[in-house]
Amino acid sequence: DPEVNEYRTSLAIRVSGFDVPRPIKTFEDAGFSVELMKAISKQGYEKPTPIQCQALPIVLSGREIIGIAKTGSGKTAAFVLPMIVHIMDQRELQKEEGPIGVICAPTRELAHQIFVEAKKFSKSHGIRVSAVYGGMSKLDQYKELKAGCEIVVATPGRLIDMIRKKAFTMLRATYLVLDEADRMFDLGFEPQIRSIVGQIRPDRQTLLFSATMPRKVEKLAREILTDPVRVVVGEIG
Ligand code: ADP
Ligand code: MG
Repeated sequence: DPEVNEYRTSLAIRVSGFDVPRPIKTFEDAGFSVELMKAISKQGYEKPTPIQCQALPIVLSGREIIGIAKTGSGKTAAFVLPMIVHIMDQRELQKEEGPIGVICAPTRELAHQIFVEAKKFSKSHGIRVSAVYGGMSKLDQYKELKAGCEIVVATPGRLIDMIRKKAFTMLRATYLVLDEADRMFDLGFEPQIRSIVGQIRPDRQTLLFSATMPRKVEKLAREILTDPVRVVVGEIG
């Protein structure tokens, strides 16, 4: 479709993969609920950023994604908004306990930013978000997790620690986000990431975001994602 190609070019988006959903132009095009649209406008988000225009329809359709876009391009909402939709669809269906959405980020600071963003969109839906990284005592964290949550935002080491302590199970986890995958590799978290992925059911939806795509990250993506759509915004990647 030449019109779609032209629109992608105007957003500096390149895609690869089969049957790639067409990019949206407005948040209305995403088909979000009234409740979620309210939360979006409350944030002052008037229209989706380029990565959001292409990633939202891909992820909302249930497809897996490799998203490559530079810092500040709005990647957080690109995975948090479809996660809210996913959780609203899933939580009535599943009897298990434990988080439905699991987000891994390389550092406490980055995880905290995601935690704050995720809470903004979760609150009005009665979705509970827990932070699993340094800063809170392990005992307090354990107690909070025991009380239950639908989303965990975590650094890899602390997440494994909490799984090992049986603070929650991964039985209900069906939406996994690996954010800033290149930095997680730089920090040596590859074994922890592989361990976490191995503990989440294979019928999950996996999303991987990164500012760059080194060979090792590409290899992991090929191993853990199923028929992903690859989206590159701008000149990097
Ligand atoms: P990235 O993860 O790509 O580095 P962030 O998700 O942290 O980027 O977003 C960068 C900034 O842009 C944040 O302050 C966020 O609130 C803001 N932002 C995200 N999406 C939009 C949007 N659609 N409209 C306006 N601002 C947005
Ligand atoms: Mg980010």
